[in-house]
Amino acid sequence: MKKDNRTFKSSIEEESENEKNLHYNPWKIIKPVRETLRMLILLALFFLLLTYIFFSKSEFIKNSWLLNLMVEHKEWVFVAIVMVMIFLHVKGSVKSLGELIYKNKEVYEKLNSAKLAVAILEEDIKSQLNILEEHGKALRISEQRYNLAVEGTLDGIWEWDVKSDTYYFSSKWKSYFGYEDDELENKISTWESLIHPYDAKEAKKKLYNYIYSKNGLYENTYRLRCKDGEYKWILSKGKALWDEEGVAIRVVGSHTDITNQILLQEKLRKEKEISESIIKNASIIILLLDENGNIRDINPYGEKLTGFSKQEVIGKNSLQLFVPQEEREELMSLFERARNNAENIPSHENQVKCKDGKMLDVLWSNSAVYDKEGKVDGIISIGADITEIKNIEKQLNLLAYYDTLTELPNRSLFEMTMNSIINNITNENFKFALVYIDIDNFKHINDTLGHISGDMFLKSFAEVLKSKVEYPDFTARLSGDEFVIIFSDIINKEEVISKIEKVLLHLRKPWNVEEQEFFVTYSLGIAIYPEHGRNLSILLRNADTAMFTVKESTKDNYCIYNDLMQEKTINYISMTNQMRHAIDNEEFVLYYQPQVDLNTGKIVGAEALIRWSHPQRGIIFPLDFIIFAEETGFIHSIGKWALKRAFKEKKTWELLGYKEINMSVNISGKRIISEKLIDEINDLLEEFVINSTGLTLEITETAIMQDLNASIEVLKKLRDKGIKIALDDFGTGYSSLTYLKKLPIDIVKIDKEFISNAFYEAVDKKIVKTIINLNHELNLNVVAEGIETKEQLNFLKENECDVGQGFLFSKAVPAEDFEKLLQEDKCYF
Ligand code: C2E
Ligand code: MG
Ligand code: MG
Repeated sequence: MKKDNRTFKSSIEEESENEKNLHYNPWKIIKPVRETLRMLILLALFFLLLTYIFFSKSEFIKNSWLLNLMVEHKEWVFVAIVMVMIFLHVKGSVKSLGELIYKNKEVYEKLNSAKLAVAILEEDIKSQLNILEEHGKALRISEQRYNLAVEGTLDGIWEWDVKSDTYYFSSKWKSYFGYEDDELENKISTWESLIHPYDAKEAKKKLYNYIYSKNGLYENTYRLRCKDGEYKWILSKGKALWDEEGVAIRVVGSHTDITNQILLQEKLRKEKEISESIIKNASIIILLLDENGNIRDINPYGEKLTGFSKQEVIGKNSLQLFVPQEEREELMSLFERARNNAENIPSHENQVKCKDGKMLDVLWSNSAVYDKEGKVDGIISIGADITEIKNIEKQLNLLAYYDTLTELPNRSLFEMTMNSIINNITNENFKFALVYIDIDNFKHINDTLGHISGDMFLKSFAEVLKSKVEYPDFTARLSGDEFVIIFSDIINKEEVISKIEKVLLHLRKPWNVEEQEFFVTYSLGIAIYPEHGRNLSILLRNADTAMFTVKESTKDNYCIYNDLMQEKTINYISMTNQMRHAIDNEEFVLYYQPQVDLNTGKIVGAEALIRWSHPQRGIIFPLDFIIFAEETGFIHSIGKWALKRAFKEKKTWELLGYKEINMSVNISGKRIISEKLIDEINDLLEEFVINSTGLTLEITETAIMQDLNASIEVLKKLRDKGIKIALDDFGTGYSSLTYLKKLPIDIVKIDKEFISNAFYEAVDKKIVKTIINLNHELNLNVVAEGIETKEQLNFLKENECDVGQGFLFSKAVPAEDFEKLLQEDKCYF
């Protein structure tokens, strides 16, 4: 290269010389005017000389011969001299020209060689330029690479020129920290001012220590303030340049934002701290197991709860140490799953055997621990002592699913069990029978013997069911006096009946509770799966329908469901709708049947008897809908309406002048037990302002017996208002003579059955006679119902029955007709 340079220099020098030669002017050498003038001057001088010689004759030329020759040939001499002079001059000029031409030739040669040198030089420059371009390209790539690297690493670059004390932050650095490009003074003090106060001292110290260390790399971690005031954690790395004396010239480095790592580290540190604290202090057992269930570690609580120390458990198999034999097999699969790298190792509950033999219920949740290759390396089992909860659960389960009195499964458990049985039936020929048992008149047992005895009876009854119904058959208590028996996997109805008979054999016996002996009957309805229903609710409904059919007829019997019963059920539903409609549309009417004084033959009162004026079916009599109304609860609104209607009519009579005419109204047993009746009557008395002594409320024995004590209370309050109470249908119910004394009544109405029979049966006559006498003895008035014949009338008159009522006098008639009867004021005998 040096050689090249030198060649290059000499070529240039030569070229400049050639350049000079190239500008050589021939006229500067030849000078024609000067040459011509010189020649002319020489010629002139020569002529002057010749002339002088010739005219002075021998002064210059002593040789006479020569002189004569000269004079003789003076023209030729002259011409010769001129020729010589021209020759000399031309020769000199031609020589100069030749020299010039030669010089020019030389110059051109040099010029040519210079041109060649220039061409070589040009080539040389070109190649130099190419090299330069290559270098430039490489430089640009390298610069790009550097920029990409810097940008890619998300690092900010800093440079500290130690000598000039300038501290430079790259644009990227500034943008990371939120500063504009022209912000921040390029001084080391700027950097210092941005360091977090907590880190400042240490950060400065480290940088200064580094530059004094005179070798190695610089690295530090600290916080720098962003423009928004937040601090970023940065990892600062750098390298210094030192001069020969070991004084740092400048340091260049990068700042990497490691805020997230630091926060993550902090989070991990805290989490670790928490986990360690949990392991140490939590009230849970923590076991670290290998994939075979061998114990690697146990936490202090685990030691405390099980009674085993760490040394005693480490290396032992957890199943063998803690789990009772019968539960081990199930848990083996857990470890199997772990060994097979299963993602989830399920939670499980098992009993834990403590060192002292005590058993605990523990709920375990398991999670796998993985090694670097992602293989299961062990299991962390976290166990919560749920012994207490389990006990409570057992109790709650008992409460939730078992009847507390009889300890039989309750309705919920029964339904759950049945649904599960039904859902799991796969065999098309599988049959079972659902037997619905209702204890007949259980309310009477409660009322007469008291609730405690009632409960004792129910317990004894349940015990019989428990002992006589054998697994897989089972029994449950659905409500107060309703029980079910499931006879599973039966072949036919005969088998069901024979099973029922066997159970009934033990139920149909005199019961002895608190030294009282009584006999109880049962109504049973049977529905068979799948014939009478494929789901529980249908089976229950049909068994109930069958049971209801038994109740309605004979009671004390059982009956298998059939479709005719279903029809009845449908009728029942339709009746419900119709009755609701009837109440809304006031389809009910009161008829009045006269009551005649058997001494005078005159009307002394009337019994209000309800009728349902059905839009399609015409007049419906109370015996066809009262029981239904009582069962469905409609009786309350119907009864309320009837009472109001009767009070209103009574007021009409009074206004017509028949103040003494008594109004008798029938009150349903369902209403008599309610205090509401008293309020209702008070309101009506207030509304219609009628003579309360002219009012009689008729109640039946059976109605009172539903809740004897409550009924007596209500009746007493009614009597206190002057309202009379009549015991209706006397002789058909219990007709206990003791009640006659006990009950707050004024009138006894002998049932029409006795009256009609009295005509044929001598014994009935005697009964009627006795009833009349007895009631008179008790100061009670006697009304005879259903007098249809004169004989009956006469018999009753003879026996001093007070009042009579029956078709002989009049059927029940509408209000206007009854008013007419009053106006007629006739004597009926
Ligand atoms: P009850 O209170 O014993 O009414 C007497 C029943 O005997 C009436 O039947 C009446 O029409 C009928 N009767 C009266 N005299 C004779 C007779 O000479 N021969 C025959 N065969 N029957 C006679 P009814 O009106 O069908 O009422 C039947 C039962 O319905 C009543 O018996 C009563 O217990 C109940 N009842 C009627 N109206 C009401 C009411 O407004 N509320 C309530 N809760 N029950 C009512
Ligand atoms: Mg009556
Ligand atoms: Mg009656």
